[in-house]
Amino acid sequence: MSTLEELARFAAHLAWPRACPFCGAVGESACVLCLLRLLKPPLPIDLGGLPLMPGGEHEGVLRELVLALKYGGDRALGIAMGRALGRAYPSPGADLLVPVPLHPGSPRAFNQSAAIAEGLSREWGIPTREGLAWSERRAEQTTLGAERRTAMPRDALAPKKGALAGMRVVLVDDVSTTGTTLLRAADAARRGGGTPVAALSWTVAAEAKGREQVVR
Ligand SMILES: [Zn+2]
Repeated sequence: MSTLEELARFAAHLAWPRACPFCGAVGESACVLCLLRLLKPPLPIDLGGLPLMPGGEHEGVLRELVLALKYGGDRALGIAMGRALGRAYPSPGADLLVPVPLHPGSPRAFNQSAAIAEGLSREWGIPTREGLAWSERRAEQTTLGAERRTAMPRDALAPKKGALAGMRVVLVDDVSTTGTTLLRAADAARRGGGTPVAALSWTVAAEAKGREQVVR
């Protein structure tokens, strides 16, 4: 199926929710297998020494799925996306999956990164824990452009007390744009006594490709 056909099907899906937009299976937000076929996982990207494993670039159907997850309010879609991601990559040796937290004051009904983490958890058998929180006064900066995001303070995220101590953690985000949010999440996990071992994101922005490096 071409990308245009996929997009057309996806648009039709918006009028007929709760059916897989790709194969039409009724009652599914999207089949894990249909989602898995859409993924184009590149080799892991080196994110400051942390391997970042994305499902593909932030464009086309993968981007549309993130938007549907953010604005459609269908948490089951996020879980299915996470399960597909969990089949695209082998389970890393880790104790916890830790999603990037929802910004304070966000109008979202749920944390889309936590939904993706839950899907990963079902595939890998690693529990999830919302062990990070945005520091006060830092939250609004992440809604600004990529340039400002790079300047995000090192302590923009903070570990919840005792949540990550002694744990090998995998950080989970829906989209990685510059990688800064995940780097700050890794910093926070370390401050909380945890050891970040990998990061997962549904998509990675094309602008990040310029500094792409293969993790050996
Ligand atoms: Zn399907």
